[in-house]
This record gives sequence, structure tokens and C-alpha cells, in this order.
Amino acid sequence: MTRKILLMGNWKMNHTIEEAIDFCEKIKEEGLVRQGKSRGILLGVAPSYLSLQQVKRHAHGLIVAAQDCHYEDHGAYTSNVSIPMLEEVGVNWSIIGHSEKRTYEGETSFTCNRKIRALVAHDFHVVYCVGETLKEYEAGLTKDVVEEQIRTGLMHLTKEDIANVVIAYEPVWSIGTGKNASAEIAEDICHFIRTLIEEQFGKVAAGKILILYGGSVKPNNIHEYISQEDVDGALVGGASLKSESFKELLVNCY
Ligand code: PEP
Repeated sequence: MTRKILLMGNWKMNHTIEEAIDFCEKIKEEGLVRQGKSRGILLGVAPSYLSLQQVKRHAHGLIVAAQDCHYEDHGAYTSNVSIPMLEEVGVNWSIIGHSEKRTYEGETSFTCNRKIRALVAHDFHVVYCVGETLKEYEAGLTKDVVEEQIRTGLMHLTKEDIANVVIAYEPVWSIGTGKNASAEIAEDICHFIRTLIEEQFGKVAAGKILILYGGSVKPNNIHEYISQEDVDGALVGGASLKSESFKELLVNCY
């Protein structure tokens, strides 16, 4: 089964609105979305909430994702952003469960599940992040941790729902550290995730779902990852911030 490749930039708390628009314009000038498409590679970015509306206007075919959302449509949830608010600015993708949300803001696989169910009910696409901490990795617990995150995060979803979900395997110890996991580790865990998806949702869903690797992906290592059987692209932080580096990520996929 040939699956598309997805390169998704997670901008975290970086880029003002002006900087975000400038990035989009450079991507457009270079014709990167078209170049990617012709090779089966989808490109996306996840800017701050404040930049979403403008980035969406200047996206020219780039996928535009929120970095999170709330599971309720409205209510007394100070500082949060709801799915209808994202819909209003034309956004229909969201990252969920990034390790920085899990580590600093108490996100759990259970709250991720509520968000994912709400998102798919609104026909959004979800990039669901899973991955173990350094302590868990050193204790040999990677597969136990990832299994819990997958089973809990995706519980009560249907086969139709899972078609809107992308999984990103991001070992926490590799995010923003420059210590990227080897391509063998990425393949081993992405393959394991695919077997869990098969158990839960069947062979067809497992064959179709995109599973990304994330963690210090750079232009000089992207190719090793996407050459793996079960790695269908990357969720990229630092190396997605500059249009030049984003372009190199794309070009080095060929
Ligand atoms: C991320 O933010 O999901 C990430 C993987 O960051 P970096 O590429 O900077 O490690």
C-alpha cells in the first residue's frame, strides 16, 4: 500500500503574525506545495492560535493546523479555543497530545481522547502525538507507554473516525534536544503502532493511517526516516520555522 508522506511543522510559541505570513509567501514563491503534491508529499504548519486566520488566508495549499483545542464547543474554560472557533477561521486540522502539553499542562491520554472524539465529530483531521520520556525509554517501557497512549487516546473511535487521524510518534527525549531517535527505533515503534491500529480498527485502517516520526528531524536526517516502511513523514519543530529549512526538508525527501 502506498501512502502519502506528510511533513507537518509545529511552530509552538514562535512566529508573530507578520513572520508567519512571510513564511507562507516564501513557500508560495518557491511553489513548494505543488512540488510536494506532484511527489505525494503533503505540507502543513501549525501556527499559534493568533496567527491561524492569517496563515489560513496565505496558505496557498499548505495544511493549516491548530496546536490544540478544547473538547467543549463553548463554556467557562478561560484561555481555551474551541473547535467551532477554529472552523470559523477555516481550520480543520489540529495537533493533540503534544508532549509539551502533557508535560507542562497536565494533558493525559484521557483528555486527548475527549478532544479527538470532538474533533472527528466536527470532521477535523487530528495529529495525535504519543511517545515516552527518557526515564521510560531507559526503563525499557516505550511500548507499554505508547500502547496506553494509543488505546486510551483512540478509545470509542470508529473505523470511519480513524480515517481522520494521523499518529505522530515523538519520543520526548528527542524533542528539541538534537538527540534524534535512530531510524530503526522510529520504524520499530511506528510499526508497533500500526499493529495496535490493526487490532483496534482492522487491516484496512492500519494500511491507510499515516504514522509520523517527530524529534529533532532536520534536513540532513529526514530521508532516513521516510525511507522506513512504517514512517509516513515527520512532525517537525525547530527545522520547520524557516522557509529555507522547510524547503530542504521537502527536497531531501526525494
Ligand atoms: C515537535 O515540536 O513536535 C518537535 C519534534 O520538535 P523538534 O523537531 O524541534 O525536536
